[in-house]
Amino acid sequence: MQDQFPCPQCGNPLAKPCFVENILFEDNLQLTMDLLESRINTVICSLCKEKITFQAPLLVIDQKEKEMLALLPKASDEAETELHRVADEHNLRLQICRNYNELRAATFRWIDKRFTPVMSTLLSDEANRLTLEQKVTLVTTFFLRIYKASLDGFLPRVLHFESDGPPEQLDQIGRASCRERV
Ligand SMILES: [Zn+2]
Repeated sequence: MQDQFPCPQCGNPLAKPCFVENILFEDNLQLTMDLLESRINTVICSLCKEKITFQAPLLVIDQKEKEMLALLPKASDEAETELHRVADEHNLRLQICRNYNELRAATFRWIDKRFTPVMSTLLSDEANRLTLEQKVTLVTTFFLRIYKASLDGFLPRVLHFESDGPPEQLDQIGRASCRERV
């Protein structure tokens, strides 16, 4: 079959994945997490468990930050001109990345902006004054997925989080939230 390729490790024939081409950051929650946890456009060999990642072109858009990250593995003036045109048309700042690590690193500041204020609030005295409903609104599904990913070791342990609370307190809150919601 044309859409098959041999595993580079053991030669087992594998099916090429359907490449993801666009991700709306946070809105496409599953794809966002696949990207952050290095699972995007990836195949795992059923025989030898080798993980094969395809560096396929990919756009990641954060509508809140008005930014677009473009994974463009090979430099191409034509493609870059087109990307700038699309970014301008939609009023987005553009950053071009050459590989997934660069792309993931660029998304960490987006995570930070959503994650840090919530953690700061949860660790402050203010949290005690919030109703349950307010807490649930604060702790979004995305927040919990990010927290879980960091506990599971897929993301840097603590992003750029700064607070007066000790890390153990952070863990307690995160684990309790994960238990309740996930
Ligand atoms: Zn294999």
